[in-house]
Amino acid sequence: MNREQEIARRRTFAIISHPDAGKTTLTEKLLLFGGAIQTAGAVKSNKIKKSATSDFMEIEKQRGISVATSVMTFDYEGKKINILDTPGHKDFAEDTYRTLTAVDSVILVIDCVKGVEEQTERLMEVCRMRDTPVIIFVNKLDREGRNPFDLLDELEEKLNIRVRPLTWPVNMGSDFKGVYSLNEKKLYFFRVNKTKVEDDVLPIDIDTPLLDEKVGTRDAAQLREDVELIEGVYDTFDIEAYRAGKLAPVFFGSAVNNFGVKELLDGFCQISPEPIARPTDKRVVEPEEKKFSGFVFKIHANLDPRHRDRIAFLRVCSGLFERGKFYHHTRLDKDVRFASPFSFMADAKAVVEEGFPGDVIGLYDTGTFKIGDTLTEGEDLQFAGIPSFSPELFKELINLDPMKSKQLDKGIQQLTDEGVAQLFTLALGNRKIVGTVGELQFEVIQYRLEHEYGAKCRWVPMNTSRACWITSDDKVKLNEFIRLKGNQIGYDKDQNPVFLAESDWMLRMNQENNPEITFHQTSEFK
Ligand code: GDP
Repeated sequence: MNREQEIARRRTFAIISHPDAGKTTLTEKLLLFGGAIQTAGAVKSNKIKKSATSDFMEIEKQRGISVATSVMTFDYEGKKINILDTPGHKDFAEDTYRTLTAVDSVILVIDCVKGVEEQTERLMEVCRMRDTPVIIFVNKLDREGRNPFDLLDELEEKLNIRVRPLTWPVNMGSDFKGVYSLNEKKLYFFRVNKTKVEDDVLPIDIDTPLLDEKVGTRDAAQLREDVELIEGVYDTFDIEAYRAGKLAPVFFGSAVNNFGVKELLDGFCQISPEPIARPTDKRVVEPEEKKFSGFVFKIHANLDPRHRDRIAFLRVCSGLFERGKFYHHTRLDKDVRFASPFSFMADAKAVVEEGFPGDVIGLYDTGTFKIGDTLTEGEDLQFAGIPSFSPELFKELINLDPMKSKQLDKGIQQLTDEGVAQLFTLALGNRKIVGTVGELQFEVIQYRLEHEYGAKCRWVPMNTSRACWITSDDKVKLNEFIRLKGNQIGYDKDQNPVFLAESDWMLRMNQENNPEITFHQTSEFK
């Protein structure tokens, strides 16, 4: 296979959902259909349960699971599928947002009983920021869900995207009979708790009496009516609109029952985009370019406390990644090489010799990487679109053991490089302020500082509700502002000044009083 064909057969995507909609179940079923695992139950949920806030071992266990299932790769019908896992817990939302920078498309899972939920909306906003193509899977049709037309309306309204069903259910709940593929004109019959992987399928012209015979006269009439309505109301499926992130095709099924999953996977293989071009600070990088480039979107601590190295997840964007070759680390302006890069199989890691655009490669890292770092064959560029977002909770980190301040410094540096939280150092007194999007991270950091770095800390809540990066063309004015605000100015990991505001109101006041200064909500403002 030549390079173009290798690139063209790759499909790199994430499955996202509000917790409990069925993301883990669907992932597992896709792996089953893809032949990557043999039995159900092999994929563990990476969910951090609510009760885990006080159970650190549970968090550790969950973390371990999430590294094992971070990327799942399998071959299906000639395609090489890379599923990137995302944490479900909302306190780790930023992790999810960053993973979404490394995919070419997503599958969004909706619970047909609950419809669009809070996190569904937030995730969708992130997808829209980059016009990521979205396929929607309406799950749990074996339960009494909402009317499918109402669901579609809700999707359009709340997710702010046009939708187009590609399959259609015959009833729901206890009376659920199957889904009809609008394109293939085939009826897939539903069976509860089916363990086999093949479907019971009937190619059918729905205008023939055969349909009445198979599903009963009432349901046959309903399906005919529904299909007529769909064809009347919705335009024919427009793949270009889908790939531009403007139109979401919708599939129906029941993941736990293996139902509708194969149609979803087949549909996904037909329409989802190949590795796409990606923006950098200098220019757009095309996957077909000869020279290698890629970026780190996730860093994970090694779970084995005897090994301090970490795992950096590199998304290959162009060219060919080769084992043992020197690449240019553009932020540090130095060359680095990797002796044993690895790929992720369902439950094993294997050393890889090479990686094509779309692939995700695991690199052992001893602390050279931060999230967003770029590797190239020499060209000086930085992949864009991996910003830090303004955190929502702020606490000061207090060292409890003066003998261990080195360990604490190193620990908090590495944990924030991993993207667990953001660190802002106050100019005055070198105080360390940690910003997160959820309470849970503070507990994780405290636990990990103690267990991985031997440093004990406590937290002091801060009277800060927002952090804004500040810039100005007027350097004098900027320095003046920084001097005046003293304790409210912190520096992020790249030494950029950040204004720590007590409230939105105080932020607005400061904006109005300092028109020469620009206040940025994310770190990406170049
Ligand atoms: P996640 O939080 O999105 O990863 O959700 P899970 O995959 O863990 O599923 C949450 C719960 O919904 C589990 O108890 C699943 O067994 C259940 N579930 C998943 N798919 C279906 C389905 O098609 N029908 C029904 N009735 N339950 C399902």
